[in-house]
Amino acid sequence: MGCAFCGIKDERIIRDTQNTITILSNPYLVEGHSLVIPKMHVQRISELTMPVAYELFDEVVRMQNMVLERLGAPGCDIRQNFRPFLPDSRLKVGHLHFHVIPRYKEDELYLKSMIYEKDVFRELQDEQSRLIMERLR
Ligand SMILES: [Zn+2]
Repeated sequence: MGCAFCGIKDERIIRDTQNTITILSNPYLVEGHSLVIPKMHVQRISELTMPVAYELFDEVVRMQNMVLERLGAPGCDIRQNFRPFLPDSRLKVGHLHFHVIPRYKEDELYLKSMIYEKDVFRELQDEQSRLIMERLR
């Protein structure tokens, strides 16, 4: 299966720079949900060259500003998922991309999923904290 983002030519392209493409996401989670994609085919952020990483981050920040200023959304999520254990599908493309998602206090995404987030959060215990920090340092 070919990569859905390599050489993408789509009517949903919002912006095309030297090393990045930004498209309106389809499918989308919230109206105005876009994807900022490096033209270089990589799966992980660590595989980017510094000039591409810089340009990509710059585009992500630019899109967040557009969402807040042009769409008037009161909030905006930025997400990058790395889940190689999932097969490629319409919902999962193994080519690095950042989701820029306009957020509203009680948008559909919140009502259907994030509202349960409080049930997932747990109190971090001291010993558990120490062990995890040892592994992450
Ligand atoms: Zn690709």
